[in-house]
Amino acid sequence: MDASARLQHTLQVLRAVAEVGRQFPSEPELKDITPLCSYFDESGTLIEDRLDSRDGGVTRREAMLRMLLLSAVIDQGPDIEGVRRLAVGVLNDLYSREVRVLHRPLDFFEHFHISATSIEECHAVVKAARAAAWAERNDSNPAKYLLYMENARQTLGYAIYRWGAPLAVPLMLTQEAGARGREGADVLHRFLTADHGCFARSVEGMTYLIKDHARYGLGKAIGDKAAHLFGKWVVHSFPLLLNRDDPAWGPWSYEVPFDSNAGRVLYRTGIVTGWVDEARLRRHEVIQPGQGKGGDTAYMRVTNLRGVESELAQESPAIVAANKELCVRHLRSHKRAPVKVQAQHIPSAVSLIDGTMTPGQIDDGLIKVGTEWCFNTGTPRCSECPLRSVCAGATEQPDLITAVRT
Ligand code: SF4
Repeated sequence: MDASARLQHTLQVLRAVAEVGRQFPSEPELKDITPLCSYFDESGTLIEDRLDSRDGGVTRREAMLRMLLLSAVIDQGPDIEGVRRLAVGVLNDLYSREVRVLHRPLDFFEHFHISATSIEECHAVVKAARAAAWAERNDSNPAKYLLYMENARQTLGYAIYRWGAPLAVPLMLTQEAGARGREGADVLHRFLTADHGCFARSVEGMTYLIKDHARYGLGKAIGDKAAHLFGKWVVHSFPLLLNRDDPAWGPWSYEVPFDSNAGRVLYRTGIVTGWVDEARLRRHEVIQPGQGKGGDTAYMRVTNLRGVESELAQESPAIVAANKELCVRHLRSHKRAPVKVQAQHIPSAVSLIDGTMTPGQIDDGLIKVGTEWCFNTGTPRCSECPLRSVCAGATEQPDLITAVRT
């Protein structure tokens, strides 16, 4: 396929994906969290014109940003739905005991025995409800179900590193604001949107800020993917940033996060191998032969796709122009047209060309397809999948399904 035909196929796939994303948005269930539920109306829609109302000493906008920063750090692992239930369970439990961690982050540390016990007990409840179905979907054993990250089994380490670190950001900002006699009602929002010099002034720059800032950065507690997930949530899922009329804070202002579910769907539908040749994917260890589950398949490390060049995309004037607009106006990662088209920019660039879909809708759709139909086994549910008529794996290249795991 030449670049023009490849672009048409990519448009077809992404339009179908975005349609799924519009029907099934993937976002933390903030409306189920007791201290935040009054921020939504009866239909579950965020009441946007009250985001600056005060609630317990902080604005609603601020309380939601704090929750999303925490969610971005913990929202990883084998069962995202389980992690989200864990977050809702712990928050509701803590607030029922007056441990108000979003409004007073110090509470989490001051009453740490309560915080840690709550995490432990809620994890046990989620595991009892979800381990069996999770094991069946993933060819695994229910006993291996664990939402603590990196297979850690210790509550204290998980609680401090993954819950404590993101809560310490607004804690430190509030304490410093107080020491200077300033208000702490929206410290996190001010920090995220301020000019920090070495970080691009865009949501994309913000994703690096929350990870790499020398004083307040979360460092290894948050990965690139999770930082971009935070970017997606505060722009696409919940419109929480005040300056979103500026393209650098709007729908195309961040790179799509791409978790393993999303990467698997992009691979099987033919988008990844369509734009980047197999040899280059191996060289960058996106595809790692013999490393997949069972040893007879390749492993796809989705995060390694970031920065990999697509030579074919350079042959499409439409993609080159859209990529320039994306990088210069929206991401603000470049001052002038980039020399190369990086693979992870292709879905966003294609959505700019199309004009009817956004990166957030695409990512939501990929997550839904990856978790509902495109399981990480050799037998995904293609016959029920909404992408089946445009998916290369389901129509003409079955090895895209059988040869690789994520
Ligand atoms: S048609 Fe099959 S391989 Fe293609 S995305 Fe859907 S489930 Fe995955």
